[in-house]
This record gives sequence, structure tokens and C-alpha cells, in this order.
Amino acid sequence: MTNIKSAIKTEWDFSKLYKNINDSKIEKDVDAICKHFLAFAKKYKDLKFLKSSKGMLEALKDCDLLSSKTSAIPIWYLGLQQSLNSSDDNIQGKINILSDKYLKASKEVIFFDLAISKLDKKIQEKYLKDKTLAKYKYLLESSFLTGKYLLSESEEKIMTDKSKVAHEAWEDMGQKNRGEQKIKFKNKEMSLTEAMGIKSDLPKTDRRALHKLVMERYKDISFIAESELNAVIRNKKIDDEIRGFTKPYESTIIGYHNDVKSIENLVNVVTKHNYISHRFFKLKAKILNTAEKSEDKKITMAELATGISTAKTKKKISFEQGCELVTNAFAKVDTEFSDIFQSYLKNGQIDTFPKLGKRSGAFCSSIVNAPTYVLLNYVDKLNDVSTLAHEMGHAIHSDLSRKQDSIYQDYPISIAEVASTFFENILFDNLLEIASIEEKKDLLVGKVQDDVFTIFAQIAYFQYEKNIHKAVKDKGFVSKEEFASMFVDCRKSYAGDAVDVTETDGYGYVYINHFRSFFYVYSYAYGQLIANALYEEYKKDKSFGVKIKKFLSAGGSMSPEDIFKSIGIDTSKPDFFLKGLKKIEKDLDEVEKMF
Ligand SMILES: [Zn+2]
Repeated sequence: MTNIKSAIKTEWDFSKLYKNINDSKIEKDVDAICKHFLAFAKKYKDLKFLKSSKGMLEALKDCDLLSSKTSAIPIWYLGLQQSLNSSDDNIQGKINILSDKYLKASKEVIFFDLAISKLDKKIQEKYLKDKTLAKYKYLLESSFLTGKYLLSESEEKIMTDKSKVAHEAWEDMGQKNRGEQKIKFKNKEMSLTEAMGIKSDLPKTDRRALHKLVMERYKDISFIAESELNAVIRNKKIDDEIRGFTKPYESTIIGYHNDVKSIENLVNVVTKHNYISHRFFKLKAKILNTAEKSEDKKITMAELATGISTAKTKKKISFEQGCELVTNAFAKVDTEFSDIFQSYLKNGQIDTFPKLGKRSGAFCSSIVNAPTYVLLNYVDKLNDVSTLAHEMGHAIHSDLSRKQDSIYQDYPISIAEVASTFFENILFDNLLEIASIEEKKDLLVGKVQDDVFTIFAQIAYFQYEKNIHKAVKDKGFVSKEEFASMFVDCRKSYAGDAVDVTETDGYGYVYINHFRSFFYVYSYAYGQLIANALYEEYKKDKSFGVKIKKFLSAGGSMSPEDIFKSIGIDTSKPDFFLKGLKKIEKDLDEVEKMF
């Protein structure tokens, strides 16, 4: 860790990929990829490969090769460039043209997966038992599992094209409408997201006034969300009926390679323990009201998600210091983790600081056969160090998964947050060590708040989605007022009595984008609970680090349930998630004693 400053690059280095966005190699590479798709389609279109295990083996090997050769690096590269220059229409145009080309060619090989997934039951069993195909067993299993929900090739093409107008176009309209809203607060004009962003830092009266202004505007424009949600939910209901799904969340859970029963168990157990979340908000109300010298026992929705900070001065952590903290924390688990992080710094794989035109927030982006890149907007806050650890968790997960064959290198979305949250947890304990007493209190209560929002709130959202999907199905149409009153119930279900939820607060459903990516929200709770469990195991026994690495190197070669089982964590046990909730309750006991 000596002389880190001179050794690191804080801007993305793309020199291994392309010269710049006008590099003629970009288009040439896309053309080459398209040719690979077409050649593969021509070779296997006659479906003769399905007839023997020898044919299957050759075809699957070829398919593995194809996914490596057709990695959409050129388009992905342009996407990364765009996140640094978000207003550059030139890049967007290029991306659109090349993506259309790529998608058109990739559609030519849809038949391959479809034909395998629809193999006769008896032949399926034969191939699953075949030792020469052992390497592809999980691929075949997942394909056979989804096969019964798939349609014919031409029908699948119609479904894809139809979803653009029946879902995406509606969502696009809603997002544009919300994005264009402006409100005036204290003579300053601002967008609704801006207003939500500054709300936390305002004094109480202003904070509540601004919150009310924002929610009233969402109520005013809720007639658009009303049409949008009715349309996309009805469209989904039609899709589910055509494909044969009987529950609205099934397609999401199966698509994320999770087990439906196990997720239903997660949802039920969390909902039953909402009292933990109620207790947290009671404590939050006490802390905030004491700090603001108020006699109130309650808080309002304006305070629901604000940070809880009692420390008088906020610690500043430079990027160099942040890197040192992360390196030390990672090295304690395994030096390969800290080595990977160091190489990211050296090779320019992390774009660190905010810049004009650069998109906000943070992400990690990876693709087969190219270096992984991390984007940050680091401004010396303690939280920025956590974000760095979080995104590096994704990056390490992606890089170690490269040990798998191309077809297994992508891990399912449902376990992505396990890796990132685990590394955040690792860092957390190191932060506690350097924090003052006041900061320590803030960190600990912040951790419980994070668990509450990631687990209880997201599962309450899952329940809300279940309710609105059922209502649209039963009644044929749900009014904007009904969506709102159901959302008031949803907020109350996890916030409890300490938080006042008004009728207008019910219009929060208008801006929650995730309600349009049906039932995605459960993956947050799932990831957080498993990450916490892995961390508990690691704390008990430091040699568990080896098993963590096994999970991080598994990619998508097994189902999430089997990956965790292979390292001794059985998420299918009914009390698995329960144990995680009890741990949060214990943390809350501790925090309650501090305030
Ligand atoms: Zn993440």
C-alpha cells in the first residue's frame, strides 16, 4: 500500500478495447459478430443435432464458443462511453443502429434454445443422465424447466415485438412525464427527483412542505400512472395466460433461477416479522424528534428514508484513504480480492470522480472477454467508501465467474446483490474500528435502517404488487385512488404506527419504477439476507473465506439454491430467512440501548 497515489488511474482506460467512439473497428466487430450468429444458424437449422448425444455435445460446445465470439463488446463499450457523456446524441444514435443490427442477427439463433427446451420428456431424461453431456447438465435442466412456458419461434418473435408497444412504450411515457415535472420551492424551480434529493438536508418545516408539494404533484399526474399500470399489468396477465404461468410472480422467480416455494417462504416470513421494522421506525422517530427538540412521538413520510446522523462533524475520507480501507478489509478475507482491487486501480477500470456530463450514482459493468469497469461519483463521504466496496464486490464476482465456460459466466440477477452486500459488510466492520463513538452509533443505526429498507420495505412492495395484480385481474380496472389507498396500506404495513402516512402519500406508487419490472424487488431482500448469513459464517470461522470464493467463482453454473448449498448454506430450509431476521432484531436491541 505504499505510494498508492502515483500508481492509480482514476479515469477509465479503454486502450485495450478501442481508440475512441469513432474507431472504425467498432462497426467491423459488430459485423463479424452478426456473421457468427448467421453461420451458427445455418449449421444447426436442420435440428439434426437433437437426435444423438454426440450431435448434442458438438452443438453445445459450439454454442459455448458462440457466446464467447458474440459478446456484444462494441455496443457495451459505446454504452460505457455514453455514461461519461450522457448528453451525446451521436453515441445514442450509434448504439441504436448497432443494437438493431445485433438483435436482428441474434434472433436468428432463437430456434436453437427453443428446440432443446421443447425436447420430448423421455429424451430430456436420457440426455440429463448422459455422462458425455454432464458439463451441460445445468444448462439443459434450466432449458427444460422453462421449455413448457415457451411458445413457437414465430410466436416468440411476436411476443418480443409486441412488448415494445404494450409495455415499454407505456413505461417510457410515464418516465418522461415524471422527468419533465418541475415544482417551485422557495423561488427555485426544480425537478421532482432533485426535490427528493435535497429534502433530507432541509429543516423540518421546509422538509415537510417540500415533501407535500412533491406528493401533490405526483397525485396530479397520477392519471397517467393509472392508465400505464392498468395497461402493463393487463398485458402481463395476457402473457402469463398464453405461457401458462398461474401466479403473477412465477415468471420473474423462475427467470432468476430461484425456487418459487423458497421465495414464497421468504415473503411470508418477512411479512410476519414486520414488527421488527415497526420497532425500528419507533426508534428513528425518537432519535429525530429528540435531535429536533420536538415533543412529537411520530414522524411523517417526509422523514421515512432520511439518514439518521447524530455526529456533529462528518468525517471526510479521501479516495486514497478509501482505497486503503477497502484493500485492508478485502485482504483480511483473501489476498486475491485485494489484488483484484489493486489491479483495477492500476489499469484504469474505475472512473472515480464526478464530471460534467457523467451519469450520477455508481455501477459495475462486465461482459464476457473484456475487462470489467466500475463507475463512481466519489465525493469523500463515508458512504462513498461503502459504495466502492459494494461495486468492487460485483466486479470480483464477475471476474472470478470468468473461471467458468462462457455459457456459465453470467450469474443470475438474484445473487448479484449477495456478493456486493457481503463486501460491504466486510468493510463495515473496518469502518467501525476507525469511527468515533458518535460515528459508531450512526453507522450501527444506519446498518439497521439499510436492512429494514432492503428487506422489509422491498417485501412490502412485493405484497403491494401481488395486490394490484390481483385487483386488475379481478376488477378489470383499478382507479388511481384505489392504487393509492392500497399503497397507503403497504407503507403502513412496514412503517407501523410511528410514521404518519397521509392519503396523498399513497401516490408514491406513481414514481416507484420497480413496480414496472414486476416482482424484481424480492431479489433485494433475498440478496441481503443471504449476504448477511455468509458474513455471520465468516465471522464465526475465518476459513469460510475459501467457501465465499467458491460461491464467487460459480457464475451461473448451478442454481442459486445449489450454489449456496454447496458451501453449507441451505436457503430452502424454512428457518433460514428467519435466522437472518432474528439477527436484525438483535442488532436493533443493541442500537436501542445506545439512544
Ligand atoms: Zn449492487
